[in-house]
Amino acid sequence: MIKLSSATSAVKLFSRIVIYMAKRSAKTEKISIGVIGGSGLYEMDGLTQVRTVKVATPFGKPSDDYIIGTLNNKRVAFLPRHGRGHRLIPTDINYRANIYGMKKLGVERIISVSAVGSMKEEIKPGDIVIPDQFYDHTKHRRSTFFGNGVVAHVGMAEPVCADLCRVLIEAGVQVGAAIHRRGTYLCMEGPQFSTKAESLTYRKWNVDVIGMTNATEAKLAREAEICYSTIALATDYDCWHHSEEAVTVEAVLAVMKHNIETSKSMIREAVRMLTGSRDCGCGEALRNTIMTPEKLIPAKTKKDLAPITGKYMKKK
Ligand SMILES: [Zn+2]
Repeated sequence: MIKLSSATSAVKLFSRIVIYMAKRSAKTEKISIGVIGGSGLYEMDGLTQVRTVKVATPFGKPSDDYIIGTLNNKRVAFLPRHGRGHRLIPTDINYRANIYGMKKLGVERIISVSAVGSMKEEIKPGDIVIPDQFYDHTKHRRSTFFGNGVVAHVGMAEPVCADLCRVLIEAGVQVGAAIHRRGTYLCMEGPQFSTKAESLTYRKWNVDVIGMTNATEAKLAREAEICYSTIALATDYDCWHHSEEAVTVEAVLAVMKHNIETSKSMIREAVRMLTGSRDCGCGEALRNTIMTPEKLIPAKTKKDLAPITGKYMKKK
C-alpha cells in the first residue's frame, strides 16, 4: 500500500513538473516574427513544434487563434487575417485585436501577405510588389489604439519598415519572384471591388496596387512599435484594364495559387535572414507622441494599453 501511494505521488509530482515546464517555456519562448496571411494563405506549411494560442485583448477577439511554430529555427506567430475558412470581410476584421495580440506575444516584426489588384500595366498578375507607401481610403473601421482618454499622433510619412522591406525584396530575388521594389498601395473599404470610375480615378492618383486591409494594419503596427512590411501579390488587373473582362475565374485562381507558393518561399527565406535586434526606428515610434499627461489618462485605458505604452509611463 505504502509503495503504491508513493508511486502515485511520484506520478502526480512528475506530471505537475511537466505542466509547469510547458507553461514556463510557453511564457519564456521568444516569438519575434509574426506573419499575417491574407486571401489564400490560411496556413503556413513547414512549421514544426506547432501549438495554437488564444490571445485575449481589451479590443476583443483576434481573427483566429495564433499558430506558433518553428520555421528556419525561429519561433513564428502566424495569423490568418480573415480567420480560417475566410469568414471576415475586410471591414469586420478586428485589426486592433490582431496587432495587439502579436504585441502581447512579443512580436517585433510583422510580414504581411495580401492579394491585390494591379493598377499599372507593368505590374502583371503573378508579380509581387513590396509597397513603400499607402493611401488609406477606408471609411468604416478603427485604425488606432488611442482614444478613451489618451491621445497620440505617430508619424506615418514612411508607413513601412525600410529594413524589413529590404529583407523581403532580397528574399523575393532569392526565390526568383518578379519583384517590384516599391509602390503605393491604395487601401479601399470593400468588400466590393471598384467601379470603373473609381478605378480610373485611382489610376490618376498614380497608385500601383489596390487592396482592402494593409493600411489599417500598418497604422496599428506603427503605434504598437512593430516593424511592418507587405508582400503584395498581384492577382489581376483592376477593372480599369481592357483585358479584365476576358479574364476567367480559372486564370485568376491559377495566378493566386502561384502567388501563394511564391509568398511562402519568400517568408521562409525572409525568416532565415531576420536575425539580431532591430536597427530601424520602429521600436521607438511612440516616443514623444503621447500628448495626454499621464495623470489625466484613465486607469483602465492605461492598463489596457500597457503592452504598447507601458514603457513610456512612470507609474506602471
Ligand atoms: Zn522597423
